[in-house]
Amino acid sequence: MINFEVEAQNEFETLVRDRRDFHRYPELGFNENRTSKIIAQNLIDLGMEVQTGVGLTGVVGLLEGDHPGPTVLLRFDMDALPITEDTNLPFSSTSEGVMHACGHDAHMSMGLGLARIMARHRSKIHGTLKFVFQPAEEGLGGAFAMIADGVLENPKPDIAFAMHLWNKVPYGQAWVTEGPAMSASSRFELTITGRGGHGASPHETVDPILGAAHVVTALQSIVSRNIDPQESAVISVGQIQGGTTYNVIPEQVLIKGSVRSFSNKLHRQLYRRILETASSVAAGFGCAVSLETVVIVAAVVNDKAVAANVRHAAQQVLGYDNVLNRKEMASEDMGYMLEEIPGCYFFVGSANEEEGKNYPHHHPRFDIDERSMMNGVAIMGNAVASYVLNGVNSKVDSNIELVSN
Ligand SMILES: [Zn+2]
Ligand SMILES: [Zn+2]
Repeated sequence: MINFEVEAQNEFETLVRDRRDFHRYPELGFNENRTSKIIAQNLIDLGMEVQTGVGLTGVVGLLEGDHPGPTVLLRFDMDALPITEDTNLPFSSTSEGVMHACGHDAHMSMGLGLARIMARHRSKIHGTLKFVFQPAEEGLGGAFAMIADGVLENPKPDIAFAMHLWNKVPYGQAWVTEGPAMSASSRFELTITGRGGHGASPHETVDPILGAAHVVTALQSIVSRNIDPQESAVISVGQIQGGTTYNVIPEQVLIKGSVRSFSNKLHRQLYRRILETASSVAAGFGCAVSLETVVIVAAVVNDKAVAANVRHAAQQVLGYDNVLNRKEMASEDMGYMLEEIPGCYFFVGSANEEEGKNYPHHHPRFDIDERSMMNGVAIMGNAVASYVLNGVNSKVDSNIELVSN
């Protein structure tokens, strides 16, 4: 038995020290060079087999328990944001225009804390823990880059966990959801191509502005006419670009927009309809269409059984009433990993209104109640333990077949 609450309390000073160090030296996505060096060294010092350069700046540490069992992936993100910090904290960013304004500094610190705790108890562990420190979570495709570099192979994880400190939730609470937890999100670019010419001779042109106007209108029929009313989806056009002056019909119009939904299947369906609708409407006006999807973040969909275990793990730490069942319309690229591996992504409350630590994520004054890091470590520790400590820490139920002794 490992008492993760006590272990996390004992780690508190180090958790704070590491978080503040990462906070002072933030690095943008795929540029986490200092950060990943520190993480790699810490994991090497714990006797792990460490791989660097996974997805450019990602780091993977393997901790083999003394007994055979499942492989559990624990993922922590590393990147900061292009924001100028305005907190006046003594450990404020020293890098102009770059700030850890999402809490990833604390995520890495919790990851290292868990790594130390687990390494101390290696003799009790039945299985392998794969500590994954991921670059470029903020819309840059870091999870995708790591998967392309093989992070989900050799060994292939049986279960995956990730968490986010969340300032919508007060310190002392957590959100755990069975099923969809965060939405799939993507951006698209539709190019409508006609034939340009003089505005006074429209009959000699194919007008892409007229075609584009009808396409934008028709796109709004997709959510209302093609999607099950019990599901949620959004298609928003945010930008139209075409033409240079009042009397010239241009060759092309560019339409940019954003799509969100809670299921990846629904997302694919939305894109099929966007292409079908846009190309047939534009064809009616003699125009051609090309569609490019720029970034797609998969929906974060939790495995029901794994999420039930995390819920139980969180209740042990925070008490029954402090673990709520909520989801978020925001997005996270952990969805890519959870498409391949059953797992759970959960939110750990980090706000403290009295101390003014309740600014939203990505705000220049964002800060957290640092005690929330102890909760994150204890909850994830309990959850992981339910798979690798051979039933010593309690497990609610699982229908996942584990590769076990
Ligand atoms: Zn963020
Ligand atoms: Zn974040």
